[in-house]
Amino acid sequence: MAYKINDECISCGACESECPTNAISAGDGKYQIDADVCIDCGACAGVCPVDAPQPE
Ligand code: SF4
Ligand code: SF4
Repeated sequence: MAYKINDECISCGACESECPTNAISAGDGKYQIDADVCIDCGACAGVCPVDAPQPE
């Protein structure tokens, strides 16, 4: 299990510093989560203004 950032992402960057495993990075047009590093904690979803990170 990992979270995935959907197309609602507005690239605000708020989630990046909240991730305890540094799984989040800026991608092409939106931020992205490395599924191999994500521990499914949900911290990114908690700070996202548009609910873009969703559990898979
Ligand atoms: Fe990082 Fe947690 Fe979000 Fe996974 S769910 S990307 S570990 S903040
Ligand atoms: Fe995108 Fe939400 Fe992360 Fe901002 S907090 S970069 S909108 S996923």
